[in-house]
Amino acid sequence: MQSLRPVRRVAELGSLDCMTTPQQFLESFWQAKVDAHAEANVRLEAVHAKYFGEPLLRHARDFMMRDRVLSVVEDVQQSRDTAIVVAREPLSADSGMHYRYHLSAVGESWKITRIDRECLHCRGTGRLGRAVCQFCDGDRWINPRKNAV
Ligand SMILES: [Zn+2]
Repeated sequence: MQSLRPVRRVAELGSLDCMTTPQQFLESFWQAKVDAHAEANVRLEAVHAKYFGEPLLRHARDFMMRDRVLSVVEDVQQSRDTAIVVAREPLSADSGMHYRYHLSAVGESWKITRIDRECLHCRGTGRLGRAVCQFCDGDRWINPRKNAV
């Protein structure tokens, strides 16, 4: 992993003054996703009406795609050309999953180049008991696409 110095103030980064911040960029990505979900949900409603019977039909909402943004940015580390953002996605009132987004600067904005998820085996601690977690090698993060072509 590259070492990134934490962002101080955008003003200190000079040419990045008018650039979209990593947080703004990710928030607009999440909003665009829920907008797409809302369109898909219209079609899913018809699918459920056709295929579901009672009592499942009363719970058809459980099968819809998420239509509001729940993710919250918890940490941003930014250099001139890259940023790493840790976000929490709540699953319920008392549990959630952390994701680590790798961003690359493109023009005045960003592209997401990789999304890691918190290691479930060590719960993002990098350790299992007194040993280093062998699932994430102590990194605390898993890149699910690491070995994908
Ligand atoms: Zn682990």
